[in-house]
Amino acid sequence: MAGFTKPRHIHYLRAPFSNGPGKVPMKPIQMVDLIGQYQKIKPEVDAAMQQVLSTAAFINGPEVKELEKELSAYLGVKHTVACANGTDALQIAMMALGLKPGDEVITASFTFVATVEVVALLGITPVFADVLPGTFNLDPADIERKITPKTKAIVPVHLFGQVADMDAIMAIAEKHGLFVIEDNAQAIGAVYTSKDGTRRKAGSIGHVASTSFFPSKNLGCYGDGGAIFTNDDVLAGKLRKICNHGSDVRYYHEVVGVNSRLDSLQAAILRIKLKHLDQYAKERNRAATHYDNAFASLEHIAVPERSSNSTHVFHQYTLKVTGGHRDGLKKHLEDKGIPAMIYYPVPCHLQTAYKASRCPEGSLPNTEQLTHEVLSLPMSTEMDNEQLSYITEAISSFINA
Ligand SMILES: *Cc1c(COP(=O)(O)O)cnc(C)c1O
Repeated sequence: MAGFTKPRHIHYLRAPFSNGPGKVPMKPIQMVDLIGQYQKIKPEVDAAMQQVLSTAAFINGPEVKELEKELSAYLGVKHTVACANGTDALQIAMMALGLKPGDEVITASFTFVATVEVVALLGITPVFADVLPGTFNLDPADIERKITPKTKAIVPVHLFGQVADMDAIMAIAEKHGLFVIEDNAQAIGAVYTSKDGTRRKAGSIGHVASTSFFPSKNLGCYGDGGAIFTNDDVLAGKLRKICNHGSDVRYYHEVVGVNSRLDSLQAAILRIKLKHLDQYAKERNRAATHYDNAFASLEHIAVPERSSNSTHVFHQYTLKVTGGHRDGLKKHLEDKGIPAMIYYPVPCHLQTAYKASRCPEGSLPNTEQLTHEVLSLPMSTEMDNEQLSYITEAISSFINA
């Protein structure tokens, strides 16, 4: 049929909107580009989803079991228990460890609220320790200061993609007989090197660990999802039972449990994304290096410090903006179409819901200072050099103005 030719008009249509001769307009900048990432794996993902639809094994189907095996192999842990989200993962870990009202759990105040919420929901007392201003991760010295006879566990959060000082934290835990629950929602894939040279993945070091597959996480699905990791066979059994209404044998309930399961569709998507996870971390590091180089000598801007014993998977690329310029810079970037986020504007110990904790304002100086200085820049696997340069130029021009 005449008239049907190749869609050459696409080139023609672009020309009037381009920002230079023959140039395609810059992709709009988002904090995280999930659509761009999906486009690259679309055939694999769509086929895997079709496969689940054709079997109708929607909950805890074979895809979930395979994902659990693959995650265990990837992290180097004996057991992975998939569940409904990262918040449940933390709560189920605490239930399985037998933590109960009156117990104290030491964790960071500079974190997403989920970490603290589940402690409070279980009637456990959250006790906040300060973080180190460079890595944003828990300060072991402050953990030790917060230990009382009621302390039962420590929850390090591997914030923004870098592993906390696990050598020191595990040593404190051993000395005081405490459990360590790693909140690994933000650092899946990061590698920690201990003093003795042992290299282990985040989430395989403590007694138990949690992660989240929320879409924007480094290993994100297309809905909610989470998982719990442990090397302890007995604990793994308890975790599975609690996820499944406290039951191993259907309609027989030995303990109080919850309903927390992963959809097979999400598991199928995660199995594909897991194969790309290390490459995704490389892409994030490429963007981070671009940022680092551009900001190396900018006044008032501190690039994220790299821990000496952890790789960084850059869940977030978080600057510290000093001199009171943070909010002005954020506004300047927004005016230029660049999103930037403050993770986290209010620390948990100053949130209305958690004010009753024994941490008054002023008691966690590093945490409180950070809430005034941090600014997270767009970070995803899909950032191109044009976008990165546009962002770094916008920041330089603001600081040098
Ligand atoms: C995202 C996140 C969680 C909670 O995960 P959900 O899957 O959203 O429930 C917990 N802790 C931290 C540090 C997180 O970033």
